[in-house]
Amino acid sequence: MGPARARDLAHAGLYTVRDLIFHLPFRYEDRRGVLPVAAAVAGSAATFRGRLVGVRRIRTRRRSFSLVRGFVEDASGRLPVVWFNRPYLVHQTDPTDPTDRSDQFVLHGPVRQAKEGLELVNPSCERAGEAVHGDRIVPVYPAAGKVGPAALRRILDGVLRQADLPREVPEMVPLELLQRYDLPPLGEALEALHHPGADADVAALNERRTPAHRRLIYGELLELQVALALLRLREEAEPRTRRYRSGPRLRKVLEEIPPFPLTGAQERVMREILADLARPHPMLRLLQGDVGSGKTIVAALALATALESGHQGAFMAPTELLAEQHFASLARLLGDRWRTILLTGSAADAGRRRAELASGEARLAVGTHALIQQTVEFQDLGLVVIDEQHRFGVAQRELLRRKGDRPDLLVMTATPIPRSLAMTAYGDLAVSTLDELPPGRSPARTEVVPARRRGEVYGRLRAAVEAGERAYVVAPLIEESGKIDAASLAEVEARVREVLAGFPVGTVHGRMPFPERERALRAFAAGEIRALVATTVIEVGLDVPAATWMVIESAERFGLAQLHQLRGRVGRGAAPGLCIAIHGRLADTARRRLEIFAATTDGFEIAERDLAIRGPGDLLGTRQAGLPSLKAARLPEDWDWLVRARDDAREMLGRLDAAALRELEKAVESRRAPI
Ligand code: ADP
Ligand code: MG
Repeated sequence: MGPARARDLAHAGLYTVRDLIFHLPFRYEDRRGVLPVAAAVAGSAATFRGRLVGVRRIRTRRRSFSLVRGFVEDASGRLPVVWFNRPYLVHQTDPTDPTDRSDQFVLHGPVRQAKEGLELVNPSCERAGEAVHGDRIVPVYPAAGKVGPAALRRILDGVLRQADLPREVPEMVPLELLQRYDLPPLGEALEALHHPGADADVAALNERRTPAHRRLIYGELLELQVALALLRLREEAEPRTRRYRSGPRLRKVLEEIPPFPLTGAQERVMREILADLARPHPMLRLLQGDVGSGKTIVAALALATALESGHQGAFMAPTELLAEQHFASLARLLGDRWRTILLTGSAADAGRRRAELASGEARLAVGTHALIQQTVEFQDLGLVVIDEQHRFGVAQRELLRRKGDRPDLLVMTATPIPRSLAMTAYGDLAVSTLDELPPGRSPARTEVVPARRRGEVYGRLRAAVEAGERAYVVAPLIEESGKIDAASLAEVEARVREVLAGFPVGTVHGRMPFPERERALRAFAAGEIRALVATTVIEVGLDVPAATWMVIESAERFGLAQLHQLRGRVGRGAAPGLCIAIHGRLADTARRRLEIFAATTDGFEIAERDLAIRGPGDLLGTRQAGLPSLKAARLPEDWDWLVRARDDAREMLGRLDAAALRELEKAVESRRAPI
């Protein structure tokens, strides 16, 4: 291929032949049956084989537009063909071309009813015997950036001609495991997926049921599970460097701290954490709990255990506002016993606070990214807590951990993680779940409303604000555009200001300077602003209990998990919350998303169903975690293979001695290295 094409592929992350052969078709079209042209019918795509006659360029008025017409002719007759914008076809199909090897062509494309009769429209056109796009079972590839399915088909056909995959692709899976599940070797599987034989089962290919599919699915899940098991082994080989108190004195402290009785789930998770802290290697635990499930008190009690045992604690949140919120609640819960400081980018006298941390005078630091700055030192950091962990990379979490000598780690997330994902992306962490809300909560009521009833919604909004309620109005962040059928932030803001004339209204979005954004959020939290027009920057962790109303504009443009997080901002106090999702025209998946959104407020159910609708994709976060990403496997669909792969990985590692483990570790690392 030429350099421009290579650049396009590189842009899409395809650099090597290896990358290409793992770029798999996502469906197949059966173009085996060649029709006699006399049998063509309007309305469907078909494949024809014959001579091309009378191929000529037609002049058109528009210079950017060209038309080529001709006929495909076989023993049964001839069929008119029209091509748009492919003037070169006139030369390529010229029967007097001296390089001509055959005068037979394979054409595949849709047949339509034109004024003068049937015609074949813009078909692929290839010499018979060399056909890639017709006369066989044709793989359809997902586009790679600018490179479309047809170009990819040609490129991969070239690769397969030049490389003998069954012989040249090294096998990664032990033979014993291939035999256990009756799977073909990798090279054969890849060959079968890119170039299905003439007698392949198209339905099985499209349903990912072929042995070749199973081989790829299992292989990549096994690789992922081996990488995860190695990570886990490495963590477990690290001995813990500090001990924690247990016993009656600690128990008394832990009982005195919470201002309310813990829920059963909170009790259970605390027991899991205390058990971790008594183990001989550091804790690496993920605490997941839906919005409002009460993660903060659990973090506070874990921190109290560290502090009471004479170690320091750190609590990191993704934004200044959240850090301030947490500082206020942690200082309230723990501040009388242990000196607690706030460390954010904009905090005054940060120098003095850092000195207090380094000397050990301050016992607990609550903050933002400011905590991982080089100048921050701890005297003896024992426990690290990270809130809304998906907002931080693994690298940042490790930077904070490195401020101490292998401190224990608790990461928290309000984005529930389906169990299939917990076993992949977060496989190096043990998982605790808060699956119970504190008593007395009424989940926000949800209404899904078409845009034509917007006026009515805003009328109710006006009445609610007049009655003293506080409201979020959320818009997707897009520029004003005639083409996109969605409300822009500016439009929404203008509408809200008009509807709420006389009331103070604020705006926040991600491109705003940080201090300005925080000012607006603070003003809303304090009640100086009665309605906040916002993009999804408010989606994470924001706790304004007095906010009870939410309108989401162009709700069809948000993901299900995102909608759920947004809704979690209202109904956090005693008063019930209301969330109204306004939508424009709905495609099928968007309709399903909104139906699920309205039907359930259970974050876990939403997460599983979201996963089923859109596939794991980036939600997996494996790439960010430095783990191999999944291309063939789909979750939760391939759950059974995931479980097999996990068990096999453990069994495999269990049989290796230390030297063999190191070898394997190196192999996995080298596969992970970016190209
Ligand atoms: P999240 O899990 O979203 O971080 P928070 O920790 O902010 O939730 O808790 C949400 C609210 O619920 C807080 O106001 C908190 O004080 C309250 N809360 C937490 N646990 C309980 C409980 N067991 N009983 C009563 N209220 C609770
Ligand atoms: Mg929280």
